[in-house]
Amino acid sequence: MSLIVQKYGGTSVGDAERIKHVAARIIARIEAGDQLLVVVSAMGDTTDELIALARQMTPEPEARELDLLLSTGEIVSSTLLSMALKHAGHPAVALSGAQAGIGTDRRYGRARILSVDPRRVHRELDAGRVVIVAGFQGITEEEDITTLGRGGSDTTAVALAAGLKAERAEIYTDVEGIFTADPRIVPEARKWPEISYEEMLELASYGATVMHPRAVELGAVHRVPIYVASSFTSAPGTLIHGGPFMEQHNKVLGIAQDTDVARITIRGVPDRPGIAATLFEPLGEGGISVDTIVQNASVERLTDLTFTVSRSDLSRALEIVRPVALEIEAPDVLADTHLAKVSIVGAGMTSAAGYAGRMFRTLFEAGINIELITTSEIRITCLIDEKQVNEAVRALHKAFALEER
Ligand code: ASP
Ligand code: MG
Repeated sequence: MSLIVQKYGGTSVGDAERIKHVAARIIARIEAGDQLLVVVSAMGDTTDELIALARQMTPEPEARELDLLLSTGEIVSSTLLSMALKHAGHPAVALSGAQAGIGTDRRYGRARILSVDPRRVHRELDAGRVVIVAGFQGITEEEDITTLGRGGSDTTAVALAAGLKAERAEIYTDVEGIFTADPRIVPEARKWPEISYEEMLELASYGATVMHPRAVELGAVHRVPIYVASSFTSAPGTLIHGGPFMEQHNKVLGIAQDTDVARITIRGVPDRPGIAATLFEPLGEGGISVDTIVQNASVERLTDLTFTVSRSDLSRALEIVRPVALEIEAPDVLADTHLAKVSIVGAGMTSAAGYAGRMFRTLFEAGINIELITTSEIRITCLIDEKQVNEAVRALHKAFALEER
């Protein structure tokens, strides 16, 4: 009997009928002989609704209370699923993150998992129960409830799979797996049967919303195979793993796009040692993750510094950056929220030349201006006008022949 960790996303447990449907899928799987630990997200838009409710009390809810409140969303779905299973005659037990032994640090709203104590979960599994764990949450040493950040249930699932040495984590969602591009934008997009952690991490970090990047990272570190598939169909999904691969794809594997981008440019930054640290340290301390950073060549000992953050972090980032800019006598801080990122990703790009040129030419021929370029070993990203992003994805999909095998 192998232990499998499954995770069902918010849409998959969106209402009572869907929860019953998930229960039926779980039962079929148990009857096939597997032992299951199931992680659930909150039903539908529950988390957003709870945040909105909290904001009706106070514009800046205290982080501790907010986390305790948000953790209830997943408690609701986990208990309902457990009830549905028991009603269908299958022993089950719902556990909060804390009860499931998930220990975190104290960073409310974006807590990191520090430890997984598997004892309670093992006891329940050994007693023959399906264990349903509320995703997205844990508990600190001081016994306060924390949440792991938006989309954190994926992380719960992979962390439990690692902590319990499960055979794999299965992420069930409203899409059928990992595609060469978002099928809503590119109807010819193809689904991959398998991809590497590294490629998935780049796709997830650069806009593919199907899985949370932190969960992919955790899977890579602990070598947990992650299977992504639909909870609504039985179509085969995508297995994310560390290799070896049946099919060596020596080309671009996927196109990702991300419109949650804001660009900040600080003009006239004095070009002397320590300035970048002065600017970016307070952003890090403020918990703002800065993505692309570009420093221009300096002219007369002055340079421009450009970086991107997510749009929800823009106003806080500006609050932090403006006084620092004043201090270092940089005259201008500019913000821009009309941009998007489009990226090509593929492990095959490391060993072959010409990908960058082809990407830039394709965008040029589509009449799309590139505002900024960044690369990793297996990714090239261009910042472009948000209005042209779907067009860019379609043009690149075609240019790299991704509709073909
Ligand atoms: N319910 C949380 C959210 O909406 C966590 C999750 O869905 O994974 O972000
Ligand atoms: Mg959700």
